Amino acid sequence: GYDSQLAPVEGLDAADAERIDATVHSVRAAFAPPVDLETRLDRLDRLESMLRRWEAPLVEALGQDLGKSTTEAWTTELGTVFGEIHHLRRLLPQWMALSKVPGSATLAPSRGWVDHQPLGTVLIIAPWNYPVQLVLSPLAGALAAGNTAVVKPSEVTPHVAQVLTEALQDSLADCVGVVTGAVPETTRVLQHRFDHIFYTGNATVGRVVMRAAAEYLTPVTLELGGKSPVWVDDTVDLKVAAQRIAWGKFLNAGQTCVAPDYVMGPPQVLQRLETLLAAAVTSLYGADPARSDSYGRIVSRRHLDKLATTLSEVATEDMIFGGGTDAEQLYVAPTVVRQAPDGPLMQEEIFGPVLPLVEAADHHQAIQYINAREKPLALYVFSQDDAVRSEFRALTSSGGMCVGAPVIHLAHPHLPFGGVGESGVGNYHGAYSLQTFSHERAVLDKPLNPDTLKVVYPPYTAIKAKG
Ligand code: NAD
Repeated sequence: GYDSQLAPVEGLDAADAERIDATVHSVRAAFAPPVDLETRLDRLDRLESMLRRWEAPLVEALGQDLGKSTTEAWTTELGTVFGEIHHLRRLLPQWMALSKVPGSATLAPSRGWVDHQPLGTVLIIAPWNYPVQLVLSPLAGALAAGNTAVVKPSEVTPHVAQVLTEALQDSLADCVGVVTGAVPETTRVLQHRFDHIFYTGNATVGRVVMRAAAEYLTPVTLELGGKSPVWVDDTVDLKVAAQRIAWGKFLNAGQTCVAPDYVMGPPQVLQRLETLLAAAVTSLYGADPARSDSYGRIVSRRHLDKLATTLSEVATEDMIFGGGTDAEQLYVAPTVVRQAPDGPLMQEEIFGPVLPLVEAADHHQAIQYINAREKPLALYVFSQDDAVRSEFRALTSSGGMCVGAPVIHLAHPHLPFGGVGESGVGNYHGAYSLQTFSHERAVLDKPLNPDTLKVVYPPYTAIKAKG
């Protein structure tokens, strides 16, 4: 095999490397086209029944790794995957039917089609923040499109990784392989050839993945993050806006790729939001969120320390509410702060329950501010003013945009989900997953007689040139 020439990986012994190589080989060998509709539906069915059988251990593992409540585990992880599987199942028959294209006058007589072929073997590398959804949602798409897949769950959520490994080996061993581990293991996997790599996580590792993919010209989907802004003006019901912003921000303790990163608005609006956001947090998590079953935890001590550093950069007079941490409990309080446009919290994606409010005189200034930065994964607009909405829509760029609510656009079955620029490459969900994990092959059938191609054969006489 081609891996006999693979360079040794630092921190990985030969036995572990061989185990990973063997997994990749067996999954590659398991790709056997044509992969008919029945096979694909059967794999989706098995993925679904796997989720049902392993639901309790998965929910428990999500609780252990992220303090995720059972309800949130359902709405944002398992439920999302069930929905995706159902949707893909509905889409598949039409997707797999040969799709005939209109005829071509110059090539007549002939018939043309676009075939949707599986790519082969897909590698899916997932992060820790939605560690079930971000493995299984892309996996559902890859299997529906007829591929086999190697998945690499995040090592940062070890309980979920363990349960997923057992579940997948139990249910889908004939078409899915699992590699667990951290950087050395992932580095090894990435030395192999895949037909597509689907990576979710941060942009630094995204670059590592893209470099590894370049070796074999492997196409990539990179689902990354960024600072997703919110614009709020005084044309909306600020109470509802505050409730929705607080929900989207403090969901999973702020560890959501499409969480509102910061809120921009005119000074009077932000002033009212300060009180309304505080009230919203109380209504969501009670007076002491540390004691709420609905509020999640930070994934690890390392991530908590980073957030504590972030909080230490907030000047005392800028702290509106929250700010508390409990390292033992991996707890960071829902926090809202004031920030200057060039403040310390405005440099990097926060990825935790800390929400800066940033003044902008008007939406023109906000648009200018957003456009001076990297393209975010999401952009949220709370305004009833049509001109304001259409200016955000026409003059800014982001992976997705949602008016009137954060986060929920990614739950719409017919919308693509993905980033642009620094927030990612490519997209998925539903039909877009089928497209991402398939090759659109052009097929043309031209009868030999009559030989209408004779008009293009040499010699090129004057008559031919005139057509
Ligand atoms: P992470 O630390 O779990 O890393 C993601 C994956 O990359 C893991 O499987 C990890 O093992 C692997 N990895 C880490 N370092 C590596 C290296 N040097 N070489 C090869 N592989 C390596 O997760 P993270 O990156 O901290 O995730 C948070 C980021 O992900 C945030 O920026 C967030 O916005 C983004 N995110 C994006 C989406 C999306 O759908 N667009 C969803 C969730 C998270």
